[in-house]
Amino acid sequence: MSKFLISKYTGLEAYTPGEQPRDMEQFIKLNTNESPFPPSPGVISAITGEEIEKLRLYCDPDCILLSKKLADLYGVAPENIFLSNGSDDILNFVFMSFCGDEVKAAFPEISYGFYKVYAQLHQVDALQIPLREDFSIDFRDYCGLNRTIIIANPNAPTGMTLSIEEIEEIVKTNPDNLVVIDEAYVDFGAESAVKLTKIYSNLLVVQTFSKSRSMAGARLGFAIGPKEIIEDLNKIKYSTNPYNINRLTQAAACAAVDENDYYMEKCKIIMQNRDYTVKALENLGFKVVPSKANFIFVKSDKIDGEKLYLKLKDRKILIRHFSSEKISQYNRVTIGTEKQMQAFINAVEEILREV
Ligand SMILES: *Cc1c(COP(=O)(O)O)cnc(C)c1O
Repeated sequence: MSKFLISKYTGLEAYTPGEQPRDMEQFIKLNTNESPFPPSPGVISAITGEEIEKLRLYCDPDCILLSKKLADLYGVAPENIFLSNGSDDILNFVFMSFCGDEVKAAFPEISYGFYKVYAQLHQVDALQIPLREDFSIDFRDYCGLNRTIIIANPNAPTGMTLSIEEIEEIVKTNPDNLVVIDEAYVDFGAESAVKLTKIYSNLLVVQTFSKSRSMAGARLGFAIGPKEIIEDLNKIKYSTNPYNINRLTQAAACAAVDENDYYMEKCKIIMQNRDYTVKALENLGFKVVPSKANFIFVKSDKIDGEKLYLKLKDRKILIRHFSSEKISQYNRVTIGTEKQMQAFINAVEEILREV
């Protein structure tokens, strides 16, 4: 740390992203919930030499074409769509715009690690609500809270979901507060709350191209919500970095939306591979938390969570281990291709035989 960093940031604990090994090709990478499939063919052909030549020009800060395509896909108007550089960027804007001295925040104690970081970054008082024993969220904990509420649905790293009725109850009982549903994993079998954004003026749904749309490296997130909330988010975006979605990402994303069926098909394959992996792990005596995401959260009484993670890493298979006490016996395993999951199961079998 330099002597120049101002005091409010000196204690800040930054987010730790999952490992991205330099010799990545040698690994089976099941640690950051990326898609094992490449982007659709149209995305690959959208990045033309012509598009690259245009990089000398600024990109469209309004992302008009992409907003229209997404609005059509989700049955909303373009003014209900906000786009930014990854959904992390949007969540940052949410804490910046809708939480502060006069509005406190609330989110589940075990959830996406970035919520805590943003709360600390923006010095927001954040109530972290414990999960039930089985890792589920009790929606009643969030009714009439009088705070800005942020919930990942499916939740991470558990993969568990709230029903749409439960989300509606949270939204209804907090009419004077914003409820943000982070749907990073919604395409893998959960129900989206997007339709509720047309009824309620206090609901914002955040999604991303990083997981189900195979574009984690392109950095694109979007939010769907009432026009006034989208305007507020745009105010913040235009006060920081209006050009935060580059030209190539916009071109790629337009093509991806045009080929939505390709991605939904790949999500189905991931869901099948998830079923296969869950059964195989249960046969090996694992406890598997029920997941509607492209990952599963698992533990075995036969081997310590961290030890399994390290032994798999020795075999060039990366999964995600979290050291925080309540979940340190668990590992989060991204669902990849069938071949990757077979290799993973074989390695786990081998390791269990050793210990
Ligand atoms: C991966 C993830 C994000 C971030 O996605 P980006 O769009 O890549 O920034 C947001 N929320 C949750 C719950 C995630 O798991």
